[in-house]
Amino acid sequence: MKKIIDNLYKSGWEQPDNILKLIRSKDEEVNEYLYKMALRKKREIYGENIFIRGLIEYSNICKRSCKYCGIRAENKLADRYRLAEDDIYGCIDDGYKLGFRTFVLQGGEDGYFSADKLSEIVKTIKDKYPKIAITLSAGEYSYDEYKKMKNSGTDRYLLRHETKSKHLYESVHPNMSYENRERCLRNMKEIGFQIGTGFIVGLPNCTDEYYLLDLDFIRKFQPHMVGIGPFMPQKNTPFFDVAKGELTKTLNLMALSRLIAPKALIPSTTALSTLVKDGRKLGILAGANVIMLNLSPPSAREKYSLYDGKNNDNSDNLITLQTAVKEIEGVGYNALVGSRGDHSDYGE
Ligand code: SAH
Repeated sequence: MKKIIDNLYKSGWEQPDNILKLIRSKDEEVNEYLYKMALRKKREIYGENIFIRGLIEYSNICKRSCKYCGIRAENKLADRYRLAEDDIYGCIDDGYKLGFRTFVLQGGEDGYFSADKLSEIVKTIKDKYPKIAITLSAGEYSYDEYKKMKNSGTDRYLLRHETKSKHLYESVHPNMSYENRERCLRNMKEIGFQIGTGFIVGLPNCTDEYYLLDLDFIRKFQPHMVGIGPFMPQKNTPFFDVAKGELTKTLNLMALSRLIAPKALIPSTTALSTLVKDGRKLGILAGANVIMLNLSPPSAREKYSLYDGKNNDNSDNLITLQTAVKEIEGVGYNALVGSRGDHSDYGE
């Protein structure tokens, strides 16, 4: 197995059967070696740096019906909110004062936030803080709408493909098409965003062969960011009684992604740190190099409940930041808060 990992490290891909073995591996020695090589790869590109970003969850109103997600339109029990634009700017100001230079604005597919509205918000932020990086994570739009967002100063866009299996994708996302998801990603790449995709580990009926398809997609598409997190149940969704995604499989898939897309910005996700207490650290030790800290107003945090247990940390932003920095430094890495945290092909 070590030989397979060494070859993956050198060449960026391996025989599908061998990748499958690594996806499935429960052998601690093998997995430790996989993480070690993923860390070596990360170090070659990004040194010891871990980028810290601020996350602002601006709306939990959503027209979609994703069966795993707590803010799906059908969840009548979700307490809906939409931040006022001034509240969004206030979160950016607060984050800026704490040293953040990169922000992610994420929300449900809320019709209020049209491409024009999002562009206007990004432009207002960029006029005030021209040097920061803004990422949007707002779902599917047309080519022209994405173009507008890019022209307004949006640097990056996150849109996970969720699963590369068309059949599984369409069974968990009613009235959505896998083709359109991928079209959005390709359009954004062409438009020139730093573009992020990724998938959920542990959706019901997902097989290891599907994760192999996810990795193959990442190899071919070479996104700038890859977000991988475990499925986490939410009590008011059709998947309320589905088991959480597996920790080891999530970490193996993160490490494999690092070896397959070496320059990618890979977050250690909130879902991972909700799954296990030291999830954030484990993600970093499997090759992640990004941490996103929640800067949403406390009232919004509780309501942006994609899954149960997500909002158990309502600490003050400064404490959250200090805790994250300590944790990152505790495992021997360098926490960078004052950086745009660009992909290595973009640079500051
Ligand atoms: N509307 C945006 C943002 C979606 S929320 C969009 O369409 O991209 C961000 C991510 O959270 C999703 O892409 C999904 O992968 C993840 N997510 C949502 N519910 C989840 C759950 N129950 N468990 C794990 N991840 C979940």
